[in-house]
Amino acid sequence: MYDNLLANVPTDLYIGGKWRKSSDNQRFDVIDPATEKKVASVASATPEDAIAAVDAAHAAFEGWAAKKPRERGEILRKAFELIIRDAERLAKLITVENGKALSDSRAEVAYAAEFFRWNAEEAVRNLGQMSRAPSSGARIVVQHKPIGVAVLVTPWNFPAAMATRKIGPALAAGCPVVLKPASDTPLTMLALMPILEEAGVPGGVVNVIPSRSSGKVVSAMLHDPRVRIVSFTGSTEVGRKLLHEAADNVVKPAMELGGNAPFIVFEDADLDAAIEGAMIAKMRNMGEACTSANRFYVHEKVHDEFAKKLTAKMSALKMGNGLDEGVTLGPLVNEDGRQKVMSLVEDAVKKGAKVLTGGKRPDGPGFFYPATVLTDVPDTAAMLRDEIFGPVASIQTFTSEDEVIRRANDTEYGLVAYLYTKDLSRGMRVSEKLDFGMIGLNRGLVSDPAAPFGGMKQSGIGREGAHEGLMEFLETQYVSVNW
Ligand code: NAP
Repeated sequence: MYDNLLANVPTDLYIGGKWRKSSDNQRFDVIDPATEKKVASVASATPEDAIAAVDAAHAAFEGWAAKKPRERGEILRKAFELIIRDAERLAKLITVENGKALSDSRAEVAYAAEFFRWNAEEAVRNLGQMSRAPSSGARIVVQHKPIGVAVLVTPWNFPAAMATRKIGPALAAGCPVVLKPASDTPLTMLALMPILEEAGVPGGVVNVIPSRSSGKVVSAMLHDPRVRIVSFTGSTEVGRKLLHEAADNVVKPAMELGGNAPFIVFEDADLDAAIEGAMIAKMRNMGEACTSANRFYVHEKVHDEFAKKLTAKMSALKMGNGLDEGVTLGPLVNEDGRQKVMSLVEDAVKKGAKVLTGGKRPDGPGFFYPATVLTDVPDTAAMLRDEIFGPVASIQTFTSEDEVIRRANDTEYGLVAYLYTKDLSRGMRVSEKLDFGMIGLNRGLVSDPAAPFGGMKQSGIGREGAHEGLMEFLETQYVSVNW
């Protein structure tokens, strides 16, 4: 069933521009979440392989950093074009290893490619600054240098986009990278490597090392003094561990971590627009997104209508194998993910939540879970504190602006919040009081390569995308000049 799709996808480690087995010959299986069948077996890097990848990256650093920014930009631009050329093949591959519906995978490929186009343009905007020191009169010349070898660690929920969101700015800045993809979804990144080669990325500039021993492999690299930045996207729990590891060699951390997004619907909202936004904010990627709406706060005056309309939309989704056209809800990525969603729903229902649709695990193979809407979710429900990471909308009511701001902010996370109101002055007033790095004001989607993506509080450190994304991979150097 997958032969044509998988025939040319490499499954070994990519180090120094060459494909190689792991040093202990270990491999691990990649599973299709829709069928629970093995689709490939991939080499599993050891810590020694990881250091070989750092060697290769370090060897490539000087040459890559010395390339003219325009040359680096043109390679990235070419990579953008080649991904668009191969978009359908890549989208199907994402669906096979991640499970998401093909429409979601196509959107991800387009989004992933954009990080190369955007950073092709950013590569030539590494601007410095010059001023005159107020007292000494010396010139203060500020310039930015590539930080050095970058270790990139990515999650399974966007196997292409979370990688290109890091590789794009790193390469634009002049940094070589070693990327460790998630074990559930290593194939997409491996399939991107021949594309990057064709675009002209020299050997050693991008190295890819899937591994089942993530902790040991990443730790080995963070303790190699040539590594100067770790850019991680994943759970807050693993992010904390990496911050500890990075401290030993004072490696710069760039952290995109978990979220617990509130979605606030005021009584004056355009309800149809709010429902449309809710479906995107909740159901993009089957709810397996850090930006996924986790807590719906709906004003008591419009709660019933909102819940009814959302239930109608959610129950109209078509669940099935994401490769089949017309399917809008694929399986979750693995059984652990499904178990987590199921136990959060059971907990909420036990404590008094009402199920308006879904809530029951289907029989048969595949890690499927239906689109589910819960109302009357009590404050004690675990799903209001933990990321659900699945197709479950939990709705509560509120009565006043101050109350909903307080409840929305009552979380250790601060990635994104959504709010719907026709009153833009209220929209901006509430936005300013919400402690979240991103706000969707009358919008259910905030991700954009041209915007600074990232969280406050325990949702992260630093930003990806926009000009900030490039700056993460640059060091500031100031030269005090007399002339
Ligand atoms: P995860 O378990 O934290 O894993 C993320 C990556 O870290 C994977 O490559 C994983 O490898 C690796 N890893 C796991 N344990 C490690 C360790 N001890 N040391 C070094 N690396 C380790 O997260 P996930 O389940 O893949 O992704 C879901 C999480 O990502 C959610 O919390 C979501 O909110 C967050 N996320 C955040 C953003 C954002 O931009 N803020 C975007 C997308 C996702 P293995 O796969 O081999 O375990």
